[in-house]
Amino acid sequence: MSAVLRVDLDRFAANLARVRGAVAPAELMLVVKDDAYGHGLDGIVRRAQREGVRWIGAFDVATGCRVREVLGDDVRIFSWIAASRAEAAQAVAAGLDLGVGDAELLEDVAAEARAAGAVTRVHLKIDTGLHRNGVRPEDWARFTARAAQLAGEGCLDVVGIWSHIAEASDEEDDAARALFDAAVTTAREAGLSPTMLHLSASAASFARPEFRYDLVRVGAFCYGIRSAGGPGEEHLGVRPIAALEAHVTAVDVDGASIDIGPLDGLPSTLAGRVTVGTPGGPRALKASGSGFRVARWPDAAPGALVRIYGPGDGGESSATDLAEAIGTIGEEIAVRVSPLVPRIYSGE
Ligand SMILES: *Cc1c(COP(=O)(O)O)cnc(C)c1O
Repeated sequence: MSAVLRVDLDRFAANLARVRGAVAPAELMLVVKDDAYGHGLDGIVRRAQREGVRWIGAFDVATGCRVREVLGDDVRIFSWIAASRAEAAQAVAAGLDLGVGDAELLEDVAAEARAAGAVTRVHLKIDTGLHRNGVRPEDWARFTARAAQLAGEGCLDVVGIWSHIAEASDEEDDAARALFDAAVTTAREAGLSPTMLHLSASAASFARPEFRYDLVRVGAFCYGIRSAGGPGEEHLGVRPIAALEAHVTAVDVDGASIDIGPLDGLPSTLAGRVTVGTPGGPRALKASGSGFRVARWPDAAPGALVRIYGPGDGGESSATDLAEAIGTIGEEIAVRVSPLVPRIYSGE
């Protein structure tokens, strides 16, 4: 019997309500990159739509197109990684909102929109210091002037200006925000009138109201994944929505072997550093060759259920608890669960 990831969609809905309440009047864009942080894209976006979420942040164009297929036309889908002219064409055809942080991509999107007879909505990205992608401040005036020209030709609608911040220190984030505000002013001077300004992800959306603008792009907190080293779930008012369960495959005097799926997706460094939930209470996770074992409990037997993380009885931890034990972030644990491990939804 293989591992399963149990995803509680009612908890997810409660988290969505909490996040939307916390950031209002800014609107929530639910970020679903990496297969909805490992929770399974289709089930997550369907429930989000039912809960009234109107913006999905899809990262790449393929994910954006998939969300369009699953949810239909009644939702705005933002993709911010388009790497080629072919992807620009797909984004135009699927009616995605595209994040554009590169002059060449701007031309490609405009050309594809023109060819398709479409008006494609774009959100221009200013690089406020992360240097991931985005137009550098020194190139921004020329970039926005060109965008205004293309908008005037009718193939693009510049609906948004955005950037991404590190959320590692308030000082850096403040500096990024000053650059962002200046970029918005420059864009307006170029004749653009963007109505969707967005800058923050989970942490800043909650902690720093002035970073919310019109839209917040939130992934982690919607899935109940708190920031490592940051405020706890109780303080945030969100709860983890996924539990990773594995079954005992064999038992000997000092431990029970567990099977976490065909491509073992947990960092091996967790061994010796965390406990997991067992029918006998919390037990240490130990290494065993290529996989994991769990310290014995009295009536351990093959088939018994072990909860690696997530809600439930038996001494559970969250993905972020595990992450903190090895100096990483909860997302890193969540997205490493093998795609071959079935996602089982409750509340669908
Ligand atoms: C991943 C991502 C987010 C969401 O971040 P969380 O911390 O998970 O809320 C927002 N914006 C961009 C550009 C991202 O890549």
